[in-house]
Amino acid sequence: MLYIYEPYCYHCYRWESQLEDGVKLNACKSCHLTAFCSSCQQAHPSPECAILQDAATDDRVMMDLRRRTGKSSTISYTEFPRKQYFPLSSTTDWYEYYTRLSDKGGFKSKMNRKLRYLANDSKEREFVEYMRCSTNTTTIQLTLIAALETIIPNMSTRSSINLHIIGAAGAEFSSLPAFEELLHLLPSLKPLQLSFVGLNVMEGPRDGTKTRNIHKLQCCTMCTKMGRSISITTWRGQYHAYVDTEGYKTPDLTAAFHSVFAIDEEADWYPTIKHLVHAPHPTVFAAARYFEIEREMRVWKSLGARFVKDAEVNKWKEISPSLTVCGVEPNEVIYQNNWWYIVRQQ
Ligand SMILES: [Zn+2]
Ligand SMILES: [Zn+2]
Ligand SMILES: [Zn+2]
Repeated sequence: MLYIYEPYCYHCYRWESQLEDGVKLNACKSCHLTAFCSSCQQAHPSPECAILQDAATDDRVMMDLRRRTGKSSTISYTEFPRKQYFPLSSTTDWYEYYTRLSDKGGFKSKMNRKLRYLANDSKEREFVEYMRCSTNTTTIQLTLIAALETIIPNMSTRSSINLHIIGAAGAEFSSLPAFEELLHLLPSLKPLQLSFVGLNVMEGPRDGTKTRNIHKLQCCTMCTKMGRSISITTWRGQYHAYVDTEGYKTPDLTAAFHSVFAIDEEADWYPTIKHLVHAPHPTVFAAARYFEIEREMRVWKSLGARFVKDAEVNKWKEISPSLTVCGVEPNEVIYQNNWWYIVRQQ
């Protein structure tokens, strides 16, 4: 992301063009992302400055990655399937997930809990930086596993799962390879069936009819040998319409990431939300900002929805902050899937 916006004074909100002739704004010497006019105090709260420094660092890492590899995202997950089930809920944060549950235990003393590299090897530093930036992508899979653990009591022996991702778009598709993390953390799981449904799903109507497209995701050699598979059905259209199609099978869980349906698409989503309130399966929603979630909750509650989990901070939100250009407050940063809630099945 590029930070293109007109800087303004943090304290009096004046742009440079509004200052006295020839007077320039001074950038904060630590984060370089906040500006002050010469009449105002030359500082802003240090916790806020620290978060902006984090945002700037991660942004540089991602720009560097893009420049060198042409990739716009990095995905870091468990390399080999686990033999034994350890609940994700037994870990407290991303650091524990990586070092205790996944296979990055070698970095235990080389990074802090915020996944900042502490030692001095440039290759290792890069690896840890990618791990941290990967949380932008794998927040989807870990949030799904956490939701499944909340609603399904026998995850350790569960052999199949059927997930429907509603309103799927770019973020879900670029995170596709990371869905194998569900197989790698849930050892008894054999087929994982995923359906991506939404108006932005890439494959759409063919020959005037809405065609369902089914793909197999290429799994690792070990998963393939064990007969484990991930199938992906894509269907372009609204979810409540998908429910009426022939191949629809009641899922174990529906999920939507950053739908922000209550902000500007409420009319489009309304029939889908209404369906989900009465659906025979639970639904998890996640979004970056509290006001988005707050408005969503209002819509759900007006329809009589009940909740397994009320809106709260998601342990598996993205760890890297991103600066929002049109934030509600100055220097507002967001984390993907910061908030989540789970709607109860009927
Ligand atoms: Zn000022
Ligand atoms: Zn600063
Ligand atoms: Zn695998």
